[in-house]
Amino acid sequence: MRLLIIGNGITGVTAALTVRRLQPEAQITLVSDESAHHYSRTALMYVYMGHLRPQDIKPYEDWFWTENRLTLVEATATGLDVEQRQVSLSSGQTLAYDKLLLATGSVSRWADWPGQHLRGVQGLYGLPDLARMEETTRGIRRGVVVGGGLIGVELAEMLHSRGIAATVLVRDAHYWGSVLPAAEARLIDQQFEESRVEVRYQTELAEILGDADGRVRAVRTTAGEELACDWVGLATGVTPNLALVQGTAVETDRGILVDELLQTSVPHVYAAGDCAQHRQPGQHEVPIEQLWYTGRMQGETVAHTLCGRPTPYRRGVWFNSAKFFNLEYQTYGRVPASPQTDLATFYWEHPSGYHALRINFENSAGFAVTGFNALGLRLRQAVCEQWIAARTPVREVMAALGAANFDPEFYRQHESAIVQHFNQQFPEHATGLRRRKGLWG
Ligand SMILES: Cc1cc2nc3c(=O)[nH]c(=O)nc-3n(C[C@H](O)[C@H](O)[C@H](O)COP(=O)(O)OP(=O)(O)OC[C@H]3O[C@@H](n4cnc5c(N)ncnc54)[C@H](O)[C@@H]3O)c2cc1C
Repeated sequence: MRLLIIGNGITGVTAALTVRRLQPEAQITLVSDESAHHYSRTALMYVYMGHLRPQDIKPYEDWFWTENRLTLVEATATGLDVEQRQVSLSSGQTLAYDKLLLATGSVSRWADWPGQHLRGVQGLYGLPDLARMEETTRGIRRGVVVGGGLIGVELAEMLHSRGIAATVLVRDAHYWGSVLPAAEARLIDQQFEESRVEVRYQTELAEILGDADGRVRAVRTTAGEELACDWVGLATGVTPNLALVQGTAVETDRGILVDELLQTSVPHVYAAGDCAQHRQPGQHEVPIEQLWYTGRMQGETVAHTLCGRPTPYRRGVWFNSAKFFNLEYQTYGRVPASPQTDLATFYWEHPSGYHALRINFENSAGFAVTGFNALGLRLRQAVCEQWIAARTPVREVMAALGAANFDPEFYRQHESAIVQHFNQQFPEHATGLRRRKGLWG
């Protein structure tokens, strides 16, 4: 099999490595226009902040690719001929395939703001953005970040790490309003405050203003306020990268449409990772998953199908994690930002504002646990997933809470307070703590 993969991100590389394992004789070529070798996109911010060197975010040594007979081509795939089964490259080269995997990732999504092409205005998606940020933030004093999501907070932290004053504009009434309940968002506010990052909620960007040299000098908000700045980070989300398939027979909507085997509408052409849109996502699942670990799962799944072992993609229990300055965040299962009629929600917060736990459960027969949010404490993924998948009643979960603990010290200190708080809030489910044997000795 001649397998051609467009994109050497986590999805493309996981697929390549899995195919190499399943089908040692396959000819595998990876095309990327971003970097010669795969790197961890999620670690970009740590390079800017000086915690890691560029070579530290490459999970594999450069010899690894030759050793595993993976051909790397650094070029842009510019044309797709599905009849002839070939892809043309910016280099003029044409590559034929038996099977094609589109793993083209996302691109930054910007509204059409006046001034967005001024010098000093950018997003953060890949290595070119990092290089640009390195250059355009040198010696500056003030930056504005537009967007209250994960990349917005990363950009604010990056600026903060270099002593650059940051203001974040957030459209919603609280941070990451589409994902986080307001209580959790308040803890993130505390992180912003402690880092002296100013956040303006319910504030949108109207225009970016430049100086005579074509460099940003200020932003104007929709409220008409002008904020002076030397740099603007646009972090208003990403959207699937469809450039290669536009105008071809490959069906798209917001992303490249795929069935559960990650097949597109065209025979022998597959799509996975950020660029793919699932035609029939499961209940409470999103059609486009833009996460590192789902990219890896999709890459691994599609590899089996590519090797003649048709395997439907099943994501399982939702999981995500992030870090907001010094506050770690994990989420499992279903924890919507606003109350839902079918869910009850238990929330505990430590008076310091550095630790919080939310547990959601069905508010009718069975009272099965549906999701967890943890801030400033770590839960064991396998345990939480198992509880959610097995539809474990909340009472049992509370009684066995220690089994999910990753931080024995923290839990030893606070577990009884959490359960006590739960018992007060939900006396009908009140429980005692089960003695843990063997967990902490
Ligand atoms: C700054 C940042 C931080 C993030 N942090 C997290 C995190 O903490 N946790 C998390 O779960 N997710 C995080 N994400 C999201 C996560 O990185 C993505 O979901 C994941 O990288 C997607 O992987 P992918 O392989 O599908 O696509 P990508 O990683 O985008 O790789 C696609 C590659 O294909 C290349 N390409 C596209 N079109 C062509 C073409 N025509 N020719 C040649 N090459 C092409 C692109 O240049 C790119 O290099 C973060 C994303 C960003 C931008």
